[in-house]
Amino acid sequence: MSEDLTLVLKAAFFSGEKHKKQRRRDADETPYINHPLEVAYILLDEGGITDAPTLAAALLHDTLEDTDTTREELAMIFGHEISNLVVELTDLDSVLPDQKKQRELERAYNLSDKAKRVKIADKTANIRDLATMPPKNWDIKRQIEYFNFAKKIAEATASASPELEKVFMRDYQTFKPKQ
Ligand code: ZN
Repeated sequence: MSEDLTLVLKAAFFSGEKHKKQRRRDADETPYINHPLEVAYILLDEGGITDAPTLAAALLHDTLEDTDTTREELAMIFGHEISNLVVELTDLDSVLPDQKKQRELERAYNLSDKAKRVKIADKTANIRDLATMPPKNWDIKRQIEYFNFAKKIAEATASASPELEKVFMRDYQTFKPKQ
């Protein structure tokens, strides 16, 4: 069994444990772990990304923001490269909710290439899910706003992978809600 495969499955298992009590906001209340799994699978299957730390960081990308996981814990279990990637993908500053999106966009331009790839795959997963299983209380206006925001993030991160840019843009055009 390769070390890479062990690392990726270990990250999937760890993330599943950490998110085990969380649900997504769609009507079915899908288990939260489906989201990081989807992001990692988009990277591998559609982006051709086989770098194990990138796939592990995708699986772990919401653990710092949304669970009790600490940076030290990630560094100890997965090493510094992966913990640093997850830190890059986490908004740890306390900003007002309405400033969050602007902050995320500013940060997106300065991410490392590996973090940019996770970020664009994350936004691809989000618009795909928004189109197929939207949060219960999101009206069409809010959905369109999110699509526009996701496109800005995609533009800020696309330089790191032409394949992932293509996948995002195809889904953006396919799924963007019409008013
Ligand atoms: Zn995400």
